[in-house]
Amino acid sequence: MDTVHDPADLRRACDAARARGARVGLVPTMGALHEGHATLVRAAAERADFVVVTVFVNPTQFGPNEDFARYPRTLDADRALAKEAGAALVFAPEGRAMYPEGDETRVHVGETAAALCGAHRPGHFEGVTTVVAKFFALAGPCVALFGRKDYQQLKVIERMTRDLLLPVEIVGVPTVREPDGLALSSRNRYLSAAARQSALAIPTGLSRASALFAKGERNAGALRAACREPIAAVADSIDYVELADPDRVTPFPDDARVPDRTLLAVALRLGGARLIDNVVLGEDRAPLEVP
Ligand code: AMP
Repeated sequence: MDTVHDPADLRRACDAARARGARVGLVPTMGALHEGHATLVRAAAERADFVVVTVFVNPTQFGPNEDFARYPRTLDADRALAKEAGAALVFAPEGRAMYPEGDETRVHVGETAAALCGAHRPGHFEGVTTVVAKFFALAGPCVALFGRKDYQQLKVIERMTRDLLLPVEIVGVPTVREPDGLALSSRNRYLSAAARQSALAIPTGLSRASALFAKGERNAGALRAACREPIAAVADSIDYVELADPDRVTPFPDDARVPDRTLLAVALRLGGARLIDNVVLGEDRAPLEVP
């Protein structure tokens, strides 16, 4: 497995792969790779012959008071994990290579990016889509895989790819969880043992709402309250607990009757980390069997 840092080398490698008849698979990441990322790489290897993992902590998707500076950077371990999972190439560019001197151009995102994380992290999805569009421009026609852990991100990228006519097939991969239900995340590294234990309120809340939904509850407020209660007991603060249309990512008010397929998404701060998670009610299995 090779590692390249220069965008021109990524483009060359992907062009060469296609020239010999291989399908290119792309897995964009910010590094600090874990089993969730490995699952994406393995899913890519099932669909493509030449799998590229990008490792880039993208500055434009972080707000001024967010964790860009302290985000874990573990390239050697990332390379080992990517190789083990079946990657042929790791692309780990410097910031300047992705944002040339004088850079001023951004992707403009719309309604899909407006609520949930978009409302709480101004500019975040513009930064995400801009860097992903650059990766797509370098990789060329390919299949690109994204985790449903970042559900709104997946939907925003699907929308961008469609709207900008990009030659990329987007595949969403189910959230990988620890045995106790906590979604794997690079930011879990920030958590103390006690905070890690408190974070189990997230899968508990999602699962309680899932259980109610399975029994027929369709009132947005009741589902939201069931999810929110355990989370409110442990979180330092809650950014949101929202029910939303799973395709447009537009929230439902508490008095709405939600459809048989509904996104339930949460974001909160706990022990110095900002954690997000979600389930699509009516589609995803609950994180826990007995909430
Ligand atoms: P990140 O490095 O956090 O930007 O994530 C890179 C990709 O891995 C994104 O598509 C994420 O949605 C995906 N990902 C992160 N954690 C998980 C997880 N627990 N399960 C599935 N995919 C994940």
